[in-house]
Amino acid sequence: MADKPQARRSFPYRRILLKVSGEGFARPGETGLDVERVQRLADQLRELTAEGKQAATVIGGGNIVRGAQFEGLGIARATADYMGMLATIINGLALSDALEARGMHTRVMSAVDVHKVCEPFIRRRAIRHLEKGRVVILVGGLGSPYFTTDTAAAQRAVELDCDVLLKATTVDGVYDRDPRRDPGARFLPELTFDQVLEQRLRVMDQTAFTLCRENHLPLVVFNLDSDHGILKAARGERNGTLIHN
Ligand code: UDP
Repeated sequence: MADKPQARRSFPYRRILLKVSGEGFARPGETGLDVERVQRLADQLRELTAEGKQAATVIGGGNIVRGAQFEGLGIARATADYMGMLATIINGLALSDALEARGMHTRVMSAVDVHKVCEPFIRRRAIRHLEKGRVVILVGGLGSPYFTTDTAAAQRAVELDCDVLLKATTVDGVYDRDPRRDPGARFLPELTFDQVLEQRLRVMDQTAFTLCRENHLPLVVFNLDSDHGILKAARGERNGTLIHN
């Protein structure tokens, strides 16, 4: 196995990768786009950039299409996955307009070529946008089927040299059991990647998790609906669960 790279992340976090899943774009338990939620997300991102943080965000698409849901229904998995990637573009465009309406500058960059609606993802160009204070909205996942946007988030965070990956969810962080099913579940505020493995906790898919662990990328799992949740997580204040090497 290759040697682990040296820790190279800086604190306070300067460049943030925020992963927002499709759930963050829809009303709880519903599908489709909820404009109010998009606007609340935009407000939170404005707070973040107002502090001088550089923000890239990887957008999910599960509120519109999740590839696996079509398995066995007559649509090939790869086709359904491309549909899922297109769904992330719809969410990303909505977020971009909400941010621009607040006077912020954004660039939507896609891993799937859709020249008429957004730029292709090019690493050096994305970094330049971040340095200029633009919010970089990364859509289309990794551009390949059989991956998730969590994996895209971990991969882009490493590639763009982000200091932390903030994973916004609909629960407060990581628990020892599923809090939605088990009211006795215990909240875990801080973990190492090894503890997550030892305790078989579900944080994100294995590929995404391994990318974070192997590249010493700290991960914060937090509730998108918590007050100033993104800002607090980005400041390194106690919010959600911090996972590190
Ligand atoms: N997807 C894919 N490759 C990627 C990223 C996403 O094929 O690199 C597809 C996959 O079908 C996935 C869907 O896009 O189910 C939406 O992404 P995801 O489920 O990760 O969204 P989230 O759960 O974050 O809303």
